[in-house]
Amino acid sequence: MVVSLEKNTPHQVVIIGGGFGGLYTAKTLKKANVNITLIDKRNFHLFQPLLYQVATGTLSPGDISSPLRAVFSKSKNTQVLLGEVKDINPKAQQVILDDKVVHYDTLIVATGANHSYFGKDNWKDLAPGLKTVEDAIEMRRRIFGAFEAAENETDPEKRRAWLTFVIVGGGPTGVELAGAIAELAYKTLKEDFRSINTSETKILLLQGGDRILPHIAPELSEVAAESLQKLGAVIQTKTRVTNIENDIVTFKQNGEVKEIPSKTILWAAGVKASPMGQVLAERTGVECDHAGRVIVEPDLTVRDYKNIFVVGDLGNFSHQNGKPLPGVAPVATQQGEYVAKLIKRRLKGHTLPPFHYNDVGSLAMIGQNLAVVDLGLIKLQGFIAWVFWLLIHIYFLIEFDTKLLVVFQWAWNYITRNRRSRLITGREAFVEAKTNC
Ligand SMILES: Cc1cc2nc3c(=O)[nH]c(=O)nc-3n(C[C@H](O)[C@H](O)[C@H](O)COP(=O)(O)OP(=O)(O)OC[C@H]3O[C@@H](n4cnc5c(N)ncnc54)[C@H](O)[C@@H]3O)c2cc1C
Repeated sequence: MVVSLEKNTPHQVVIIGGGFGGLYTAKTLKKANVNITLIDKRNFHLFQPLLYQVATGTLSPGDISSPLRAVFSKSKNTQVLLGEVKDINPKAQQVILDDKVVHYDTLIVATGANHSYFGKDNWKDLAPGLKTVEDAIEMRRRIFGAFEAAENETDPEKRRAWLTFVIVGGGPTGVELAGAIAELAYKTLKEDFRSINTSETKILLLQGGDRILPHIAPELSEVAAESLQKLGAVIQTKTRVTNIENDIVTFKQNGEVKEIPSKTILWAAGVKASPMGQVLAERTGVECDHAGRVIVEPDLTVRDYKNIFVVGDLGNFSHQNGKPLPGVAPVATQQGEYVAKLIKRRLKGHTLPPFHYNDVGSLAMIGQNLAVVDLGLIKLQGFIAWVFWLLIHIYFLIEFDTKLLVVFQWAWNYITRNRRSRLITGREAFVEAKTNC
């Protein structure tokens, strides 16, 4: 169906979310005859794939964030608004914030997803996840705080618990965290402590499925597992966490219940759509899947609302092979670009064929000189894959912001294993260990 748009007054496009989906929609529309309002509750775009490097002390939060105003300072048709959208009124074509209402002709909802604790929300404080800058700083506090606490601890059992890191979830984030903590413990921090031997650190990666990195080819997943094990991490597959309490992780493996005392438990499993999914469901009647993602039409619109689009992690697009597309940055960016092009076509009275995702492959970093890259026909591992990973991330990091200096610094720190951002900030880090002394 061709949807014609009013051409006389500039068409009002409202984008909720300045993540990958929202950003690419706005960028692709920057020369179009439309007025864009980009609303985000944060004043920066966050490059989430590198959050784990903030959590493990290689990068600082500013290195992986780009102020939205700076990104769009030259896009004269784009206004950035700082604010949290609370509601939508599709009949009146309004987006509702705490202190204002914004009218739209076309709405793009790109509010992403958060982590899910599978109904055990009380685990959130015990095993923090990684989604925001604050999460990364909290993880960094816990990781570096644990080594400090171990240095202060005299009881061997408690010291062991401080030096035991449990990571739940064997997807890319879990693997990258496990690899980075292994490098920290066995290489970077080796000479820095006097009472503890950081090489005694235990890193446990718990994965529900039968292999880590299940989204890449089995042979690469095997290479990743071998590389991680060589680095010193222990991988437990077919393992389900059943409880987290009193610094003890309980898990079930092959029917057997096991427990491991650990003071640092990190969550890298499960995804839950942002609450805007629920808002859309209530206001438009659209269906959501079990993870709260909005089930979108082939052109990424919401059923019965041709002027409301959902892009990125918030959407469930299952029109390609019957399965939802993965929650990764290329899906969000390609969907953002598609929606922008469709709006431009509609302004001319035309339309576009349904959205089609062009799978660009998957990659995961394991450690220095160690990565796996699955490009379909081409599969890379080891140093070549690591260089490829580095180049891709450098390309995306500098795309919105001139961060060349940061990138060079980062590359240098990486090569020399110099983790300069080891700040323990936020809540007090090793209160517990001090009282135990
Ligand atoms: C730790 C981590 C590592 C990852 N690693 C990779 C990787 O290596 N490769 C890869 O391809 N993908 C990776 N991803 C996934 C990738 O980051 C996401 O797929 C991508 O960010 C999705 O883009 P999005 O635009 O849908 O949502 P997001 O990028 O999450 O952006 C959502 C935006 O909406 C804003 N927002 C939310 N609610 C509201 C509201 N009510 N009002 C206003 N603003 C709101 C948020 O502030 C945010 O800016 C990773 C994700 C994480 C968390």
